[in-house]
Amino acid sequence: MPNGHVIRGARVGSAPPRHPERHLPVPCRSVSYWCRNGHRTDIRIVADVTAPTVWDCPRCGLPAGQDAQDPPGRTRAEPYKTHLAYVKERRTDAEGEAILAEALAALRRRRGRR
Ligand SMILES: [Zn+2]
Repeated sequence: MPNGHVIRGARVGSAPPRHPERHLPVPCRSVSYWCRNGHRTDIRIVADVTAPTVWDCPRCGLPAGQDAQDPPGRTRAEPYKTHLAYVKERRTDAEGEAILAEALAALRRRRGRR
């Protein structure tokens, strides 16, 4: 057969045909991170992979986040707040007095019943 060599690659046991899409570059997207010192880091990640929430800043080593206005680490720098401090943020002194008066009144009512 003069054309016998043409079908040589299709014999049993030969390598499967190559898919051209395997050779396309993987789609990537750019993700920016900011650290507390204002350093911006752009990384390229594969499009369908979830970007890590924190990336170590290559310039200063601090954790960097995707929100430029609120880089990670800032919350840790805040002084520890007591439960009372949080309550005082939510309620004014007047509201506190009212709640206290209400609680005392309820306590007295309960005691009065006995
Ligand atoms: Zn940095």
